[in-house]
Amino acid sequence: MATWVLRDIGELLTVSGPSPVRAGTTEQEAQQQAERALAVVHDATLIVSDGKVLFAGPSSDSPALHLLPQPVLVQSARGQLVTPGLCDPHTHLIWAGDRSREFDLRNLGASYQTIAEQGGGIASTVKATDQASDEALVDAMLKRLDTALCHGITSIEVKTGYGLVPASELRLLRLIHAARAQHPIAVSPTFLCHVLPPSAREGSERERLVAELADTLELAKQDGADAIDVYCDVGAFTLTETRRLLTRAQQVGLLLRCHAEQFTYTGAAQLAAELSARSVEHLEQLDEAGRAAMAHSQTVANLLPGAALTLRLPWPDAAALRHAGIAIALGTDCNPGSSYTQSQQLMMSLACTQMGMSCAEAWLAVTRQAARSIGLGDRGQLVPGAPADFVVWSADDFRQVCQQLGHNLVRSVWVGGIEQVRDGVRTAGSA
Ligand code: FE
Repeated sequence: MATWVLRDIGELLTVSGPSPVRAGTTEQEAQQQAERALAVVHDATLIVSDGKVLFAGPSSDSPALHLLPQPVLVQSARGQLVTPGLCDPHTHLIWAGDRSREFDLRNLGASYQTIAEQGGGIASTVKATDQASDEALVDAMLKRLDTALCHGITSIEVKTGYGLVPASELRLLRLIHAARAQHPIAVSPTFLCHVLPPSAREGSERERLVAELADTLELAKQDGADAIDVYCDVGAFTLTETRRLLTRAQQVGLLLRCHAEQFTYTGAAQLAAELSARSVEHLEQLDEAGRAAMAHSQTVANLLPGAALTLRLPWPDAAALRHAGIAIALGTDCNPGSSYTQSQQLMMSLACTQMGMSCAEAWLAVTRQAARSIGLGDRGQLVPGAPADFVVWSADDFRQVCQQLGHNLVRSVWVGGIEQVRDGVRTAGSA
């Protein structure tokens, strides 16, 4: 494989600076720290060899071309912004069916919970997913991975969750693996305990299903799940059930995640933090006690502005999380019911305009911080030895990507040193 030299980079985010320190800093200090973590370099060069970053830094420090592994190919970034590929740490990318009618109904007044109670909502996705062939589900997920890639995403978490019963969830896990094997994006699979099916919502049936799910986790781990996620809320799993599932997952070596404090406050964020969960998701209703528990853990707050926007929930309080010293990541929560988006750029815009985050914080939240929250710690930064996953943008200042609401500013995307998107269009992936 040739050595690629990308020169004339107007602005390079290596995201290799020190992590922002924990609580106690002023607002202004927090912003400065986030910007230092991005380690912005102007007039920069990026050198890629063997799929990895060989050099990322000021052009004045760049090694001479004749010293590099040959052959050497040189390209110009024409003064544009270059960043690590984005990471989306929370998606539900594998499903079948169409819920656009429900989207329209909800906007006209029907609530998410009312639609769910009437057999719409997630039940319709579960039915369509169950009826879809393996091939159709893999094909749909591959198309969504292509869309993600064209939006600058090079690593992603994908949850099961539209099977509900163990055998169906294991099927989706297997299909996520089948799609992953055919696509350049780094995919981290999660086994999601989403909601209980109507046949197992009460009494002994419910108890039996929770026990069965707990018993399935070892198999999920063997079948390649990196993590478990439990949806703890009214209408989903209780706090006691969530504790049981997370504890069992921890015993079999899965990373822990938890949909917590979205519609109601349950105490799940506190539980997840106590169990050293990798991340907790949503947090629209998080209170002071929950923040205090998270502040004493390494658990990342995965905030999902797309769901808050679609469902008209209160915006997650990023300022309060920052003040408590909690690391923040942003995710799309891509799913057909409550957040049908694959644009991390839009999530960054919403985080800045609605949640009180700075552009530097938003960038950190979709790169290194997001990758850390899904256990892909070598992604989300451009340092020697890291996978050469990067994006060349139609922008020359990182703030422009946050500012331009709803625009896809991606010009080209490289994964493992191979150009996968050129001039905004998916290529065949040839080197
Ligand atoms: Fe979700």
